[in-house]
Amino acid sequence: MLADQYDLFLLDLDGVVRLGPGLLPGADRAVARLREAGKDVRFVTNDPRPTRTQVATELTTLGVPAAAEEVVTSGWACGVYLAGRGARSAHVIGSPGLAQEITGSGLRLSDTAPDAVVVGCDETIGYEDIRAAAALIRAGAQFVATNNDATFPTPTGPWPATGAIVAAVQTASGVRPVVVGKPAPVMFEMALAGLNAATTRAVMVGDTAATDVLGAHRAGLPAVLVSPTTPGPSEALEAPGWSPTPSSVTWPACSTPVPASRLLCGSGRRGRQRYGPGWLRSCSTTGAGCC
Ligand SMILES: [Mg+2]
Repeated sequence: MLADQYDLFLLDLDGVVRLGPGLLPGADRAVARLREAGKDVRFVTNDPRPTRTQVATELTTLGVPAAAEEVVTSGWACGVYLAGRGARSAHVIGSPGLAQEITGSGLRLSDTAPDAVVVGCDETIGYEDIRAAAALIRAGAQFVATNNDATFPTPTGPWPATGAIVAAVQTASGVRPVVVGKPAPVMFEMALAGLNAATTRAVMVGDTAATDVLGAHRAGLPAVLVSPTTPGPSEALEAPGWSPTPSSVTWPACSTPVPASRLLCGSGRRGRQRYGPGWLRSCSTTGAGCC
């Protein structure tokens, strides 16, 4: 079984555990079975909008009990990243939850000569936000993006995500951002904090090759790519006698065994070298990332 091969499961949220406001079929059962087997679980999401506490509360309400300490969001990671590099103030474009995580890391919010401009995602962001961010970056503030996902999956299809806003600020400022979210290895390293990286067998489970899988490989971790919208029997995991093979695996939130072409358990070497642009092009995904 896949679960026997690892001690720590890093789970992407959108497209793996949930889709929009609801759980994907079997996700609650999958996480419960991992916990029953004594596995550690971390929820690693590029969604910068909620706080870790809000994510944990939402998951628990949906039937996936989770603690805030088990959640790694790109917003929280941004705060930790900046605080660790000596930043003391930041101008935030994003949700109240993102601002809360930034201040929770010890930074002061500032609209005047901040050390950094943090760009996340929020439905209310408008022209004035982009203008102000670009002006502060041109004046010398470090440009940090929570993530660079172009879209995030919803029940009605992909919606514009942080990357669309980051692109606007980048175009207006002429500066490329530091991106903290997946596929940068920062969030994976934070998810492993406090654990013995040399002995902990960790694996990433995600629905987006360009962020989840590539990011895991950049962090030196293997990854499993799942496709939650692939048609097929939902009870595949429960079928008597069915067992994973080296060429296929079922993630319970996924409705059918994932073909070998979609299962990418890397050796943990640096993904960018092993899996270049050609690999990404050949690897179709149904998820579009998350906000
Ligand atoms: Mg996803």
